[in-house]
Amino acid sequence: ISRENLEQLKSLIDQADEIGVVSHVNPDGDNLGSSLGLARALRNYGKDVEVLGHDTIDNYLKFLPDLEYYKNDYKDSYDLLLILDASEFDRIGDAQPVAHNSKKTAVIDHHLGGKITSDLNIIHPDAPATCQLVYEIINKLDLPLDEKTAGLLFTGIVTDTGRFMYYDTNRETFDVAGKLIDAGADKDFIYQALYQNKPIKTLKFETDLIANAEFIENKVFAIASKDKVDEFGVQMGDSEHVVNILRDLEGIEVAMLLKEYDNGEYKVSMRSKGIDIAKVARENGGGGHVNASGFSIFDDSLESAAKKAYEILKNI
Ligand code: 5GP
Ligand code: MN
Ligand code: MN
Repeated sequence: ISRENLEQLKSLIDQADEIGVVSHVNPDGDNLGSSLGLARALRNYGKDVEVLGHDTIDNYLKFLPDLEYYKNDYKDSYDLLLILDASEFDRIGDAQPVAHNSKKTAVIDHHLGGKITSDLNIIHPDAPATCQLVYEIINKLDLPLDEKTAGLLFTGIVTDTGRFMYYDTNRETFDVAGKLIDAGADKDFIYQALYQNKPIKTLKFETDLIANAEFIENKVFAIASKDKVDEFGVQMGDSEHVVNILRDLEGIEVAMLLKEYDNGEYKVSMRSKGIDIAKVARENGGGGHVNASGFSIFDDSLESAAKKAYEILKNI
């Protein structure tokens, strides 16, 4: 992050009394880690900060601190709205009017092709997680970094890098993780909460989706229907890991998972090893990263949405 950008951000923060922090819909670890983490640091710095919430939190993230600040009732505008881990307006869902009404806005993100016009864009697609950028900001602006803030940022880095595995994990990522542990991030607690705490019913649900997946050459397609979610008594978010498990198989280059939501929305999650699937997602109205991307299909039946998704996968 350039010195100039850091100074601009500092002055936006110092000029604001009320600050809002928002991230994308369907919150993931990097989303909550970066927004709750930066909000906490700014509160400890003396600012009045609110985190604008959208959805329910997936069960696997309910261990995070500060979720009481993730609220669905928020103001119409702020002196400064910080938009994290998202750089397209539709990604912030119902909070879009707040971005238009707020006096100043700043984007801090690591997605490709950001389209939000704001007073300050700090967008680094080579960063593996927004939390890595937020650490750099907290460090260079001398904002307070307590144990809980460190844990939130550590969580976002671990989840977005696939436990320090994905190609964009860099030297600095390990360095930042070490600094966060120095600052009190409880890695053992976080790892157990994230990866050693799966309810058996979630495993049964995952197993069923995997058993019913369809393999085509070096690609694989799975469906998480609402019926399956009900049958296993889980949440749609509990299908989160299925697409990674399928991508990780021998001989597989691309995995796709179609998730059935309300009002005719079907969310497609894609994962790859080498192939650029961000491009495919963008062509279909979505976005993301080279090896992890997604988009939505609007349709009136699961069968028809699945057919469309399957065609897109076959043509990759
Ligand atoms: P996931 O499959 O975990 O929902 O998303 C993987 C990645 O793709 C994330 O970086 C996420 O932000 C991005 N992504 C998923 N769905 C969409 C979408 O509908 N639009 C955009 N722009 N990005 C998406
Ligand atoms: Mn995210
Ligand atoms: Mn992210």
